[in-house]
Amino acid sequence: MDLNRRFAELVGICWCEPEYYNEDIDKCHKCGAIYSTGRRSTAHPDFISDPRLVLREMDRIGMLDDFKKYSGVFIWMPEGHYIRVDYMTDTTTGLLVKAAIEWMEKEMKMREDFGSNGDATTPGFFVKKEKGK
Ligand SMILES: [Zn+2]
Repeated sequence: MDLNRRFAELVGICWCEPEYYNEDIDKCHKCGAIYSTGRRSTAHPDFISDPRLVLREMDRIGMLDDFKKYSGVFIWMPEGHYIRVDYMTDTTTGLLVKAAIEWMEKEMKMREDFGSNGDATTPGFFVKKEKGK
């Protein structure tokens, strides 16, 4: 599994496919994002090499609090939540993004309202759900 791609889908980020637009820019044919020519490599976030991005995206879609409480990745103390150091220092195997994907997929299965809003394979499922609140 492509961990970066799967996580991007779960949090509703376009997995951009930049194509030649003109000599200066490439353009994603799915979302319209613009990349200067030669910078296509910036089209995909790397959640493995920067675990902070995982937490930032989960916060953006409103899932960080539940992830902190129920995933087992964090340790609860009266003054706040602490994340295990190995989840933040690992920048090669994707320890945190893997844990986030597994938790989100499990969480999706438990949610009742899969129906018309999509299912576990729908990109951005959580984002849509949050907006519908
Ligand atoms: Zn795109």
